[in-house]
Amino acid sequence: MPSDLYKTCKFCGGSSLISFEASERMLGMGGTFDYSECRDCKSVQLDQIPQNLADYYSRSGYYSFLPLVQSGFARRVFKQIRMNLLFATNAKAFEPSFGYWLKKLAPGFHSKIADVGCGNGQLLYELYASGYTDLHGFDPFMEKDQVINANLHLRKQRIEESESTFDLIMMHHAFEHMESPMETLQACFDKLNPGGKLLIRTPVTDAEIWKEKRELWVQLDAPRHLVIPSVVGFERLSKAIGFDLYEVLFDSSAFQFWGTALYEQGFTLRPNLVDELYSKEELVSLDEKALLYNKEGIGDQVCFFLTKPI
Ligand SMILES: [Zn+2]
Repeated sequence: MPSDLYKTCKFCGGSSLISFEASERMLGMGGTFDYSECRDCKSVQLDQIPQNLADYYSRSGYYSFLPLVQSGFARRVFKQIRMNLLFATNAKAFEPSFGYWLKKLAPGFHSKIADVGCGNGQLLYELYASGYTDLHGFDPFMEKDQVINANLHLRKQRIEESESTFDLIMMHHAFEHMESPMETLQACFDKLNPGGKLLIRTPVTDAEIWKEKRELWVQLDAPRHLVIPSVVGFERLSKAIGFDLYEVLFDSSAFQFWGTALYEQGFTLRPNLVDELYSKEELVSLDEKALLYNKEGIGDQVCFFLTKPI
């Protein structure tokens, strides 16, 4: 009897799943990985996590943890003025390049903020330089705990292990690397203060490029991506946990097209090939196509904005 009969969707709990195979393409390591797609909510999950999953990270540079780049005093003053202007005017011109999503969250400068899967902590550092004072990074894969300064601590642990609770928790392309979306969302819920906000940025299977190209889709990223929700699947799970999902913002880029095209042509993920494959005009039109896809809700990644009700 196929084991598929006993599997359930990690997002909606549905038991009708379609199996498909994918291989590792970013580095060209190949192999065959069994994934399942839920017939009901259309989310995708890896059936069995390979025992040597770490090998698929170590060669990719995922955890190479580039050194943190710090800003001088003058640069920090500039960044603080810019952030204050952003909140005062809401003008696009003041959006920092690291986070257009920040405007929607508009956390106070003394909010307690956590970044789950923070890597080298660069994003939190940018928030520090912009005036934020209570910043906490979590990443079990970092070498050791680091106190960057009085306002910014990085910890080699999971957020579940922290004794603090937060006003804002963020996960930037970390959610899809975690085995249990239910446990991940529950941990965020438990660690948020009432009224606190959660930002999750992840690929989604609402993507037109996924429907068209299936296992060649660059953000399927077998076997590193363990779960990829659909918007509907994510909404159901987050609701079941008690969250209010108040906004879904598609923010996909031309990467979905050229990354997938590289795989389709048998290449590994080599961004330097892009200029050979596409003219400047073609790349501009791919950017425009991505914007259109985002508007239509068929781009390949989103920002989920959630609150924990008071
Ligand atoms: Zn489902």
